Amino acid sequence: MDRIDLATVAVTAGRPTRAPDAPLNTPIVPASAFYAGGPTEYAREGGPTIAALEQTVAALESVNLSRSAKAIAFSSGMAAAEALLDLVPLGGRVIAPSTTYTGVGVRLRELHDKGAIDLTLVDVVDTERILDEITTGAALLWLESPTNPLLGVADLPTLLAAARKMGMRSVVDNTFATPVLQRPLEVGADVVLHSATKGLSGHSDLLMGALVTTDDELMEQLHGRRVLLGAAPSSFDAYLAIRGIRTLPLRVQRARGSAELIAGRLAKESEVSSVRHFGTMISIEFHGDVARAEHLCTNTRIWVYATSLGGVESSLERRRRWPLESERVPPDLVRLSVGIEDPEDLWADLHAALHGGKH
Ligand code: PLP
Repeated sequence: MDRIDLATVAVTAGRPTRAPDAPLNTPIVPASAFYAGGPTEYAREGGPTIAALEQTVAALESVNLSRSAKAIAFSSGMAAAEALLDLVPLGGRVIAPSTTYTGVGVRLRELHDKGAIDLTLVDVVDTERILDEITTGAALLWLESPTNPLLGVADLPTLLAAARKMGMRSVVDNTFATPVLQRPLEVGADVVLHSATKGLSGHSDLLMGALVTTDDELMEQLHGRRVLLGAAPSSFDAYLAIRGIRTLPLRVQRARGSAELIAGRLAKESEVSSVRHFGTMISIEFHGDVARAEHLCTNTRIWVYATSLGGVESSLERRRRWPLESERVPPDLVRLSVGIEDPEDLWADLHAALHGGKH
């Protein structure tokens, strides 16, 4: 077989060698130290369960690539971002979206303010402006597409090709789309970043990050960053993440269908002034009415009022409740992450909370 579908890869990747009595799943190996003499001696370097997860994530992101990628897992998405940013030369220029995930945005500005990087912020949907910035050179083009929580979509093939032409490293945060809906390495990204805390693992029960690349030299540098910065994931979390990934295509397919239905119905509600939608995510506004947004968040019974996203359970939150969230995000914006519950139950719950008190 030449190529297999991503749904098959999600189930088959990262398994132990098929041999009599071997387990079907890579076991949890709880070890901080390993007998000397092999490639992995200490758990910051990795371990069998972490390696199985890395193989699985790499296989998903390179399902249609002629050259397979490698992945490296971190203890969180932010730790993965930090490892990559740590490779930017001192004072190096970074072009990044003006709205990204809050933590990434704040960290980029912190690094800029202390002179570690020279940050240029751009609107991720403004392709012409980003192309202009790319032609003046930078160490790193940081893209998040779709963006959290405005769901802005970048023209990845055009921007990544331009960055490559300029010899500029590029990274795409693929947390929202997951490899089921978008595989940036296939359209020219050097690196893909995941908060595997979200859709990849999918059960809101672990914290994890990953970077994926086909560049072996860069992978070695990133491995070095993990060893020195110390942000390795635990074997237990790696095991859970693999278990979550086995159903990723099914979960995304189901949640995406429900999100489409719900976004369409929300667009017909007069209290809702704006509906943005991508994949399993929806962001809505309430004519600037923050109280209405809060009311929705606190009056559902199936949707959970919680931060984070990409879990089997549908969740929602008003993003500006976080003091560090960008002021570009409207104060009345509620971000909804659609899970795998029955779509009509989800709609009924949302509709009732939109139109009244507790139900
Ligand atoms: N990137 C995106 C798009 C995110 O939404 C998040 C977290 O919400 C992160 C990165 C950071 O990941 P973590 O929370 O796993 O550190």
